[in-house]
Amino acid sequence: MLYLILFGAPGSGKGTQSDLLVNKYQLTHLSTGDLLRKEIASGSNLGKEIDQYISKGNLIPDQLMIDILSKTMDTYSESKGFILDGFPRTVQQAEALDTMLETRENANAILVNLEVEKQELINRLLKRGETSGRSDDNLETIQKRLEVYESKTKPVNEHYKAKQQHAHIDGMGTVEQIFERIEKAIQHII
Ligand code: AMP
Repeated sequence: MLYLILFGAPGSGKGTQSDLLVNKYQLTHLSTGDLLRKEIASGSNLGKEIDQYISKGNLIPDQLMIDILSKTMDTYSESKGFILDGFPRTVQQAEALDTMLETRENANAILVNLEVEKQELINRLLKRGETSGRSDDNLETIQKRLEVYESKTKPVNEHYKAKQQHAHIDGMGTVEQIFERIEKAIQHII
C-alpha cells in the first residue's frame, strides 16, 4: 500500500495537488488540517482545545495528532493507499508513522516535497484568506506558521531523505505544471 506524503510549507499547494492525485489514482486523501477543522466545527471540547493551537499558528501536540491520524487510518482498511497532507509535521510524528507502517503489509512510503519561495507562499495564503474563512490565514498567523514550518517541520524532509524515500518538486508554476512534475517523480512506485 502506498503512503504518499505530500510535504511543504503552508501555501505550497498540498491540498490542490492532493485533489488532482486523488482523482487520478483513487487514493484516500487524509488532510490533518481538515480533520482538525472538522473537530472544531463539531463544537466538542476536544475541538475547543485544538482551536487554541490552530488559531495561533501553533502545532497541536504530537501524541494527540498521532492518535487522531492512526484512528482515522484504521477506518479506511479497504483503501488502495493514502495521500497524507499535513502529516508528519515533526520528526516525532515521522517516527510514529514509521512504527505504524512497520505493522502494515507492503507499506511503501514516499515524501514528495513541494518547494515554493517564501514570498509566493505569503501571497497565496493571503489570497486564500480572502475566501477561506480560516482563522489562521492572516498575515500575523501566516508568519508564525512559516516559522513553525522552518523550525519543527523542515527536519521531517531530512528524515525521509536519509531513508531515500524522497522526491523534490519545484512547486513554482501553474497547478498543471506542478502536477506533471509530481507524476514523473512517483510513476515508478504508483
Ligand atoms: P493545514 O490545513 O495543513 O495548513 O493545517 C492547519 C493547522 O492545523 C496547522 O497550522 C496546525 O495548527 C494544525 N495541524 C495540521 N496538521 C498537523 C500536524 N500534523 N501536527 C500538528 N498540528 C497540525
